[in-house]
Amino acid sequence: MDDPHYLSGLDLAGRRVVMVGGGTVAQRRLPRLVAAGARVELISPHTSPSVSGMADAGELVWHERRYAEGDLADAWYALACTDDAEVNAAVCAEAERARVFCVRADEGDLGSAVTPASGRHGGLLLGVLSGGEPLRSAAVRDSILEGLQAGVVEDGRVPHPAGELPGVALVGGGPGDPDLITVRGRRLLARADVVVVDRLAPRELLDELAPEVEIVDAAKIPYGRAASQEVINATLIEHAKAGKFVVRLKGGDPYVFGRGFEEVLACAEAGIPVTMVPGITSAFAVPAVADVPVTHRGVAHEVVVVSGHVAPGDERSLVDWDLLGRMRGTIVLMMGVERLPQFAAALLTGGRPPSTPVAIVEDGTMRTQRVLRSTLDVVAAEAAAAGVRPPAVIVIGPVAGLAQPSS
Ligand code: SAH
Repeated sequence: MDDPHYLSGLDLAGRRVVMVGGGTVAQRRLPRLVAAGARVELISPHTSPSVSGMADAGELVWHERRYAEGDLADAWYALACTDDAEVNAAVCAEAERARVFCVRADEGDLGSAVTPASGRHGGLLLGVLSGGEPLRSAAVRDSILEGLQAGVVEDGRVPHPAGELPGVALVGGGPGDPDLITVRGRRLLARADVVVVDRLAPRELLDELAPEVEIVDAAKIPYGRAASQEVINATLIEHAKAGKFVVRLKGGDPYVFGRGFEEVLACAEAGIPVTMVPGITSAFAVPAVADVPVTHRGVAHEVVVVSGHVAPGDERSLVDWDLLGRMRGTIVLMMGVERLPQFAAALLTGGRPPSTPVAIVEDGTMRTQRVLRSTLDVVAAEAAAAGVRPPAVIVIGPVAGLAQPSS
């Protein structure tokens, strides 16, 4: 059989596009039309809040009425998306006479154009048509996109213009489960020549890398903390200067107790371009997967993320523990396992009720995840008895005591 369609890329910028019908199909099609710069006019007596929001924002013009013959005058492209087959047929008939290509949402093969399943990847625009099997085209589109993101489908991109350094990408890998990295982070990781990885970064992602990718384990760099940061900075700079694309893979978000900004500054000082890719921080994600929302309507209107790497009263501490003791909302304590008895005591002294609920989530999002629920007065003893170990996020406040969804 001959191909029923001819695949083409339309330049709709500044051109009149008429969409008839403002329901869910419109809602799905409009963002891409708008993104392509089309001058969209929507004709429909009703529409959804998200579509009328686009009209309010000036992204399209909404004519709040039914379709009438003549509406397609001067249009370059039309879409018949009502739930009324007769109206869709009338729109397509006018389009045919006016020689305007027209998509028909209810019966695709009766229109003169069809919408491909489409997707974007780093400047590529991908479209798949299957001749009337939308689920099939969507599945193929998804697999190609996933393959591109994971680096298994060749992207063909010219790596870097001559003379320019590819630089360093500082990538937040999320709390541990390899699925919780961002799409952008994964895409950059797939292009890395060198990966410098932290102890708490999602290490399973390294299995996907090609054998020639050099992996530097930042956790194995010896010396004390301060010196090892200098070694890490020097490692990033040295590889980047050699023309390698370096991904610095960190746990959670690079800027939440991750020392990410120190690395950015060091690279900038050395003239290395840096891309920052935020990550899902364990401060919020780890409580979430253990059914602890860090805020909840009527329960907590504030959340403070606190580092427990030094004790209360330590001269290096920048934390006002008295203030945290007076606060009613949520405290998310990171790196707090070792000194939990001191933090609990400081909060009790500051005025937090002994019955304040506490949830400790160890190895959050990982197979070994463990959750301990307690109260502020006994949490230190109970955590010690249960053998709680880092990494763990400790959530203190009424949200840690909310009823649990039954599963
Ligand atoms: N930049 C990271 C945090 C680094 S500090 C982020 O945004 O998530 C390290 C602390 O993060 C650990 O001591 C622990 O408190 C917490 N943490 C990180 N990953 C964790 C995980 N999977 N489960 C529990 N806590 C985690």
